[in-house]
Amino acid sequence: MPEPITTLSTLVIEKLSGGITAIGINVPGHSQNVMNQDFMEELEQVLTFLQQNPPRGLLVESLRDDSFLAGADIGQIDTVWSLPSARVKELCDNGRSLLDMFAASPWPSVAVIDGVCVGGGLELALACDLRVATENPKTILGMPEVKLGLLPGWGGTVRLPRLIGTGPAIELIASGDVITGSQAKTLGLVDACVPVHSARESACAFIEQTIATEDYCKRRAELQLPQVLDKPESDFLLATTGAVIVSRTKGNYPAPMVAFDTIMQSATKSMKEAAALESKAFADLSQTSVAKQLVRVYRLGERNRRDCGLGESAQLTSNESVHVNEVQKPSIVGAGIMGAGITARHVRSGFITKLVDIDARTLEQSIPAILEEAAWDRYHQKTNQERVNELTGRLMSSTQLSSIADTEIVIESVIERTDLKRQVLADIEATVSPSTIICTNTSTNPIATLADVFSDPTRFCGMHFFNPVRQMSLVEVICGPDTSDSTVASVVLHAKRLKKVPVVVQDSPGFLVNRVLTPYLHESVELLREGVDPSRIDKVSRRFGMPLGPLELYDMVGLDTAFYAGLVMANAIGDRIEASPVIPALVKAGWLGRKTGTGFYSYKSTGHDAKIESINEKLGDLIDPYRLAEQQMTDEQICDRLFLPMLLEALLVLDEGIVRDGCDVDLAVIHALGFPAFRGGVLAWGDSLGAAEVVHRLDQFSYLGPRMTPPARLLAHAESGRPFALVEERGNLLPKTT
Ligand code: NAD
Repeated sequence: MPEPITTLSTLVIEKLSGGITAIGINVPGHSQNVMNQDFMEELEQVLTFLQQNPPRGLLVESLRDDSFLAGADIGQIDTVWSLPSARVKELCDNGRSLLDMFAASPWPSVAVIDGVCVGGGLELALACDLRVATENPKTILGMPEVKLGLLPGWGGTVRLPRLIGTGPAIELIASGDVITGSQAKTLGLVDACVPVHSARESACAFIEQTIATEDYCKRRAELQLPQVLDKPESDFLLATTGAVIVSRTKGNYPAPMVAFDTIMQSATKSMKEAAALESKAFADLSQTSVAKQLVRVYRLGERNRRDCGLGESAQLTSNESVHVNEVQKPSIVGAGIMGAGITARHVRSGFITKLVDIDARTLEQSIPAILEEAAWDRYHQKTNQERVNELTGRLMSSTQLSSIADTEIVIESVIERTDLKRQVLADIEATVSPSTIICTNTSTNPIATLADVFSDPTRFCGMHFFNPVRQMSLVEVICGPDTSDSTVASVVLHAKRLKKVPVVVQDSPGFLVNRVLTPYLHESVELLREGVDPSRIDKVSRRFGMPLGPLELYDMVGLDTAFYAGLVMANAIGDRIEASPVIPALVKAGWLGRKTGTGFYSYKSTGHDAKIESINEKLGDLIDPYRLAEQQMTDEQICDRLFLPMLLEALLVLDEGIVRDGCDVDLAVIHALGFPAFRGGVLAWGDSLGAAEVVHRLDQFSYLGPRMTPPARLLAHAESGRPFALVEERGNLLPKTT
């Protein structure tokens, strides 16, 4: 009789009645159960123990709320970058062998899935004979490895297609999407979806039933078999799912297509051959810079979630003077494009929200649109009308500021006129309680020029959302001269409760995002003046990975808005980046972009969703008076002209202390501008070139003067070889709230 295991730290063995054993997962030190080294070693230990003490049936469950098992520990994934491909393959084989041992055990097993079950967690569940998911809304299942530039490496691409079919398995693995317990039931991924309280009982009943019928032995044998995938079926998958993957990834994200190819190839092979294909594909992907950058971006997001937004010195747990308010009663003032978007986000996040606008008609028109946006069902890609009815009671609107007297946070989003904003902010302060936090969504006004209307400016800061609010997840939290730490930390927390990514910045023209965007946009117009075709400029930018080219972006934002923002930036950085004469000329011609149907391009209609028809054919005439000496340039040079100035500005922003570190810059450009995540952000892109190479590339543009001159920080990095943006943990975790 072997010794019972007494030293486990991640698993608990429990004997249930009827000879059934339960393994309970509880991995300490992480917000989710993860498959770290301790867990894998202990799982092997437990299997060996069970082989010597065979149960009649086995239950695998979590001992934590809302977390079944979330796959490999991200810290361990980080160790694979430095390993040769052969070693990575071996690691995949080892992990998979352990799960194979599990799957081949003589007893039937059932996974009780309550909470997050993704990646390796789902691979473990697939190694069980049966799966029972719960109806808990926090129960999600999926294989999101492609979002990290990888694919499942412990049998996911082998077992999932055999269980649910090749097409559905490709969709789940190549999209990286997660599904609910009931969706998993529909797909055949789980055998039942039941209320949380009856999950264990239901799993035990499944065990008894499958022992009685010996059904699990039959199922095991069937699931070992290769699949039948005839030519029409594989052609169909290639033409549909394959084509969707290509259009979605645009060749920049290899993992989904590698997953597609691997599953297609392995479908008709033996389990062993399919496993070898999986290990090879995982190892190949682990050698790509895309995977490395995507894992880094994931870690930036994790770090942001734990960050309270204050400097290193403010250790909130030991700093009693910082009070973080988890506000319950928010209000928005201004129901225009931005105010409506911000309100919808609040309602969707469960807040009872008040909306004030001076104009009753604007309110009347915006309410239905706000509710529709708040009730948007992403999965079905349409508004959920039932949800609209539920949410109606959460939104209150008024033309009177007095209606928000009892509010705990106010976000001002009225038109961008300094005098009006000052008046509205002063009125808000006079209306609300002394403890209410007041924010402005201004894009161009320095926070300092608005802060001086307050009798208590410590409770005031910028909370800058990006357009469209539903898509852009960044929020800049801008500190005014007197903003208190409590205000900053409370606004950061509030942004997170809205599922946004807050980045704290200091008050400065353009704050962070518009500041680094300015040189990029400016350069695109200079290239036009040098005779480069507009569509070529945009194409180069999109090929780099941006969602829109710079000239398309100008047209989307509106040339009038760009003109006013440009004036602010010209005042601040005009010594390096002069305001272009082309933008005012477009405004004067009434070509404001999509909203007027004409800008750099001509559109088929007017408005936000207008589609491009052609390049504005009169653009050349408009630019003629402002032409510069024509330059012949390669696409690579055009790319450098666009993105190197953005990198230089980001380095200056760091020098000026506008942002706390380079990681925040990278996170901000990804979440506000759609800077390609596979490049890791603008500073990570600079790091991929290396500072010395950046200096070398800038040299060819020295004729353009100060805007292409390497700043001191760049030269220092070139000298030392130090990267611009290492991911370093911040100490200040989210504090307890009041
Ligand atoms: P908008 O013109 O669409 O809406 C402004 C709203 O403010 C209007 O509905 C107007 O009736 C209302 N308003 C005016 N005076 C008011 C008062 N005294 N009390 C209450 N409501 C009043 O403007 P928008 O584009 O939504 O911009 C709002 C703010 O957001 C601005 O500060 C702008 O700089 C900022 N912003 C805009 C964008 C963008 O892309 N539009 C992006 C980020 C930030």
